[in-house]
Amino acid sequence: MSGLPDQPHDPESDGQPTEGGPWFRDGLGFRCTSCGNCCTGPPGAVWFERAESEAMAKALELDHETFLRTYTRRVGGRLSLRERHTRHGFDCIFLDRESRPGKALCRIYRERPSQCRTWPFWSENLSSPEDWERAREQTPCPGMGCSDPDALIPAETIVERLRESREADRRLAEQAD
Ligand code: SF4
Ligand code: SF4
Repeated sequence: MSGLPDQPHDPESDGQPTEGGPWFRDGLGFRCTSCGNCCTGPPGAVWFERAESEAMAKALELDHETFLRTYTRRVGGRLSLRERHTRHGFDCIFLDRESRPGKALCRIYRERPSQCRTWPFWSENLSSPEDWERAREQTPCPGMGCSDPDALIPAETIVERLRESREADRRLAEQAD
């Protein structure tokens, strides 16, 4: 899955606000177009915590063990959501390209893990404008850089998502120790 690293983000990586505010202090344009590009691409991983897999299992009306056996796999000793190799790339197992023609939707949208909920406001994407641009181009994510004024995400919200992403990474790293 592009945009989704095969290791949890480095919780100590850059993106901290500097004097005068972070480089994104005026906010960033972002509106998801449901293209699905961040849920596919080269092989990757979608990490999740126990509470998240329990929530996903519940949403699918499965017991936890059945969910883990059916929808997850081990990657480097950790559990990730599975992928399916399609003509688009390695799609997340929950990516739905059928329900709405031309759109790629998440089957477990309400219960998607923190890694997905915080995209694209990850440390590695927010370290600098160049990193933001790199992520936008490499994914590619047509929602990043959306110029509609209504799509402007304020800096406070970005910082909140960044914090959520970092905290989830930290917990995942601790679980792996
Ligand atoms: S790549 Fe960007 S626009 Fe496409 S689904 Fe992901 S977040 Fe939305
Ligand atoms: S869980 Fe949903 S949002 Fe996350 S990668 Fe899979 S399809 Fe995309």
